Amino acid sequence: MRIVHISAEFAPLAKAGGMGEVLVGLCRELTQLGHETEIILPKYDFIDLKTLNQVKLELADFKCWESGQLHANAMWYAETEGCRLHLLEARHPAGYFHRGKIYGCEDDTRRFIYFCRAVLEYLKLGNREIDILHLHDWHTALCAVLARDLFQLPIKAIVLTLHNMEYQGHCASWDLDAIGLNGQKYLHKDKMQDPRFSEAINLLKGGLVYADALVAVSPTYAREIVTPEGGFYLDQTLRKMKSKLTGILNGIDHHLWNPAADPCLAAHFSEKSPIGTILTSKQKMRESLAKQWGLDPNKRPWVGAITRLVNQKGPELLEAAIEQVPAMGATFLLLGASPNPKIQKHFDALKKKFHGNAQVLLQFEYNERLAHQLYSALDFILIPSTFEPCGLTQMIGMRYGAIPIARATGGLKDTVFDAETSEKKRNGFLFSEMSPRAIHDVMKRAFAHFHKDGPAFEALIQHAVQLDCSWKAPSQHYVQLYRRLIAKPI
Ligand code: ADP
Repeated sequence: MRIVHISAEFAPLAKAGGMGEVLVGLCRELTQLGHETEIILPKYDFIDLKTLNQVKLELADFKCWESGQLHANAMWYAETEGCRLHLLEARHPAGYFHRGKIYGCEDDTRRFIYFCRAVLEYLKLGNREIDILHLHDWHTALCAVLARDLFQLPIKAIVLTLHNMEYQGHCASWDLDAIGLNGQKYLHKDKMQDPRFSEAINLLKGGLVYADALVAVSPTYAREIVTPEGGFYLDQTLRKMKSKLTGILNGIDHHLWNPAADPCLAAHFSEKSPIGTILTSKQKMRESLAKQWGLDPNKRPWVGAITRLVNQKGPELLEAAIEQVPAMGATFLLLGASPNPKIQKHFDALKKKFHGNAQVLLQFEYNERLAHQLYSALDFILIPSTFEPCGLTQMIGMRYGAIPIARATGGLKDTVFDAETSEKKRNGFLFSEMSPRAIHDVMKRAFAHFHKDGPAFEALIQHAVQLDCSWKAPSQHYVQLYRRLIAKPI
């Protein structure tokens, strides 16, 4: 099959969160399964072409229409991470992808609307049959509308993966006029009209309506998003589309996350290592971090979080945990940055309060290397999310021997099974209530297992390290879906 992914992220080149990792993991596996897999990404200014192997200019100049003008674009090509990558360079006067970041600009919707149209222009020039056009979240959802209504391309089926329903991409109808769609026509409840703001266009909704299949990133999330609590006002649209909605659990990329050869770690281990080697390697990492950051390696367990500090991730529960952990004789390590100044201010105050405390590390930055080191050093990884479409940090944590303590929601529910109530699958600790009391109780429970029961806790770690959370099984599910779609006439 020829499968073309269109995305705003692709790890490690352009990663803001889990989506970039999903793209590289899934594409790598699809290529290995023998499919012709491509990925098209904006060429952001922070991508250094020199880091790519044998990058070449694929197309020096192709035009994209916007606001009555033709704008120049170029396409670059490289094979990287086992994937065929196309980087779309928009030479637009607004410098759409020259902002030093992926998201967080005032004109984000316009940037990605332009990207969608430019991608379609490029695919039209190629004029080759595509079996599956695979879109990801609101940034590229509009490609489904453009492919069906404006460009008549030989695409057999369109798939849209829903990584997070909270972000939907709102714009005005004239933003669609600007790229050649009749905006008013789409301001209709069965097309792209926003369910709350009747004068607004909802880009994600366009994808929901026009794609041939919708994939939520975990089975539980597929069930949650058709409810008013989980659908962010698009639940009604999703209920109408239920026959084409399914849930496929994400995997983690075993090349990006490999404790056996991770260059960031002080010592290595693999799923085949005896428990002694795993524990010694983790202790070495803790000692190295303790030295670097002035922490006490003996105040155990080490519990931590590696996360965007946004409401979805339960910042008030993270704060409660940070407040409680030193008194429990343990150490808390947080690596996380917030795009929300209010939340960041709050955590800045917390950092001041714990300044000089050898049981608390609060590091507010995006730091890939430190993230790898923390996963390896932690005894527990805390994920108190209000909702979690899939979540990768619990799976990465387990591969690095950090036991998850997670709220029972979304993909966390599909991957974490409580050590006290589950039989064979036990690999972590779960809680439900969003309260400081609940976070205290679950940590107390988890820490008691850590302190009391040596062999049983070691078995829990070994089981977690050995779990196969790779893309092997999920990619097979995607292939089955692709085959079903192209087998049936659309
Ligand atoms: P989301 O996509 O909602 O942010 P996921 O759990 O799916 O959450 O994926 C988060 C990914 O981003 C993980 O790989 C995690 O290690 C990484 N990450 C989050 N915050 C940071 C940070 N401050 N520094 C480095 N990596 C981070």
